[in-house]
Amino acid sequence: MAWVTSHQLRLYNSLGRLTEDFAPSADVVGLYSCGPTVYAYQHLGNMRPYVFADTLRRALRWKGIPVRHVVNITDVGHAVADSDTGEDKLELAAERERRSVEEIAEFYTQDWLAALAALNVQPAHVYPRASAYVDQMIEFAQVLEDKGYTYRLPSGLYFDTSKSPGYGTLALLDLAGQRETGRVEHVEGRRHNSDFALWRAEEPGVRRIMRWNSPWGWGAPGWHLECSVMSMSLLGEHFDIHTGGIDHRELHHVNEIAQSEAFLEDGRPWVRYWLHNEFILLDAQKIAKSAGHTLRLADLVESGYHPMAYRLFLLGGHYRSQLDFTMTAMDAARATLRGLITRVAPLRPLPPVETLDEARALADAADDKTALAYVEAVDAAIASDLATPKLLATLQDALRDPELSAEGLRVVVAAADALLGLRLGDLSLADVEQRRSAADLAPQEVADIERLIAERTEARTARNWARADEIRAELDALGVEVKDTPAGPTWQLR
Ligand SMILES: [Zn+2]
Repeated sequence: MAWVTSHQLRLYNSLGRLTEDFAPSADVVGLYSCGPTVYAYQHLGNMRPYVFADTLRRALRWKGIPVRHVVNITDVGHAVADSDTGEDKLELAAERERRSVEEIAEFYTQDWLAALAALNVQPAHVYPRASAYVDQMIEFAQVLEDKGYTYRLPSGLYFDTSKSPGYGTLALLDLAGQRETGRVEHVEGRRHNSDFALWRAEEPGVRRIMRWNSPWGWGAPGWHLECSVMSMSLLGEHFDIHTGGIDHRELHHVNEIAQSEAFLEDGRPWVRYWLHNEFILLDAQKIAKSAGHTLRLADLVESGYHPMAYRLFLLGGHYRSQLDFTMTAMDAARATLRGLITRVAPLRPLPPVETLDEARALADAADDKTALAYVEAVDAAIASDLATPKLLATLQDALRDPELSAEGLRVVVAAADALLGLRLGDLSLADVEQRRSAADLAPQEVADIERLIAERTEARTARNWARADEIRAELDALGVEVKDTPAGPTWQLR
């Protein structure tokens, strides 16, 4: 296979705003993704960072690069509106729902994990809870204080961003400008607007529910602190990739970097690659009317959309592009998913493929040069900063290509789905349809089903059992149940 080219994995690094070759610095790549704050349901847009991180993980696996993935769960505080002061969102939710903060955190954590599983997102290796790391956060902040990076105020311990030489590099901040004009939130005595709390002391007369004692009095850790502490404690002081939503690029990640590099003081960048996904633009008005709250995955499922249709909608856009969420777009994604399943079901079972090497070996074994070329095209797409729209287009091309052998096509589909994670190996059309009756079918769909049944009858008459079984599988995937009666076959939707 000397002519085979391997495509270097290239990723867009927010640190410098350039697409760069990805070169791991360790045998196992450390990957940290900022997780949810569990005081409410995660809406649809909030699921994109995890499908994106999952795509990245699949790309690394495809390239034979082992990964250790950590996603934190913020079950401590996180003050209102990302500010350093005020009440905790979790405590507010507990009050609103008349439940304990632990119950609130657990309930919304489980709901989020269930949504991830429904979206076929591979579980992280560790989901650390911030509440379990408060002692380490206090130690970390103590080191920063000992090194002279902080100052004390009645409202807590603050990080002095003027002491951090590279402050704001990730956000491409105009330093002087940011320090003077940053988020306008008045904190008595704060030296620069960009300074942030490492420790939030209890206000006089206000007793938090979640409170810890510290050298700076009773209170709770600042939100930014938890990600630095948990990532370093689970992935080592330096690791390769940190991901999150684009909204974290300007503040949360800037502050994570400042405190981590101050803590380490080793002159090296703390994390080498910073990857950020863009937003989903929710059709806010319509959604507010239909659901009465922010739309989430469970609402889509209730309206008859399979979670894989939403995953397909997400993958249909590049992770660095904003995506407009509309019901029309969801309908299109569902129709595409139906088309894929209808075409792929007769090819099952698909061979097990996770890596480029496995896909190449199988294409070779099938002695199908066209399949090998498609595997390379799949590789080129994912290596090019995770270009999932291109990958989907390649899959569609392969499904229409008469040059591909059946075995070759199986390999290409399995290879593409190792990266897309759309469950093309097992998802049935009946799963996707959910409660459709024959009356809902379009005339063309009915004609297709009846043509297949006629072909099956023909195959059986000709004692071509293999062909008859193939058609049976195809009908199965369509959710069609066939009954053979003395008067001939009848059918209904399951
Ligand atoms: Zn974070």
